[in-house]
Amino acid sequence: MKRYPLYIFDLDGTLFRGNEPIDGAADAVARLRADGSQIRFLTNNSSQTRDTYVAKLRRLGFEAHPEEVYSSAIGTAAWLRENEIASAFVVGEPGLAATLEEAGIAVTSESPASVVVGICKSFTYDLLNQAMQHIRTGARFVATNADPTYPMEGGQFIPGAGSIVASVRTCGETEPTIIGKPNPYLVELILRDARVAAPDALVVGDRMDTDIDAGRRAGCPTLLVLTGAATVAPEGQDWLASVAEL
Ligand SMILES: [Mg+2]
Repeated sequence: MKRYPLYIFDLDGTLFRGNEPIDGAADAVARLRADGSQIRFLTNNSSQTRDTYVAKLRRLGFEAHPEEVYSSAIGTAAWLRENEIASAFVVGEPGLAATLEEAGIAVTSESPASVVVGICKSFTYDLLNQAMQHIRTGARFVATNADPTYPMEGGQFIPGAGSIVASVRTCGETEPTIIGKPNPYLVELILRDARVAAPDALVVGDRMDTDIDAGRRAGCPTLLVLTGAATVAPEGQDWLASVAEL
C-alpha cells in the first residue's frame, strides 16, 4: 500500500476496543513510524486529558507522545482560543475541564462566555438548568462532539455526548457549534500543526459517519477498517480488515 507522510488514526474500534488492543495494530503503527511517517491519534472522546490517552496507548503497546494526541476536548480548547472566548461553563467530565484550563480557558459558573458540553456522567437537571440560563443570556454554545452513543468492551454502548448536547439544545433553543468529527476542524488542526497537506495525510477510522466523513471534508484520503463500528465498506471506499494490514 502507498505510504503517506502522515497517518491520522481514530482510537476506539481502530487501534483498540476498550482495554483490548487490536491484534497487530501496534506493530503496524510502529512500522509506519520506522519508515519515517508522522503519526497522530484522533478521538472524538472529550472525557480524558492528553496525558491519560498517552498513558493508555503506551499501556496497550503503542508508542505515543503527548503532541501526537488530539481529542475533541483539545479541539474545543483550540477553537475557543481561536475565537477569543476566554471562559466556559462546562457540562462534562473532569478531563474536559482540565484540558480547557491547561489551554488557558477559565472554567467558571459566573458569567461564562461559552457553555461547553461533552459526555458527562454526572449530568443532572441542575447542570442542565445552569447551561440553559447561560446560553439564554448570551454564552456561546459549543459541543465537543455529537456521538449518540459511546462504545464499551464486549459490544456494549452507553449514552454519548450527543445525548447530553440534545438536552441542552432543547431547552437552550440554540444550535451548538460542534467541534468533533464529522466536523473536519480537528483533522484540519492536525494538518496545520504537522505542516502536512491534506492529500498527504491518510485518515484511518472505523466509522463512515464520523472518521471517514471528517477526513473527506478536510480533503484527505481515507481508509475504513472493519474492527469497530463498520462491518462492511460501502462501494468506492478504500478499506482494510484491520490496521494490522497497513
Ligand atoms: Mg472509532
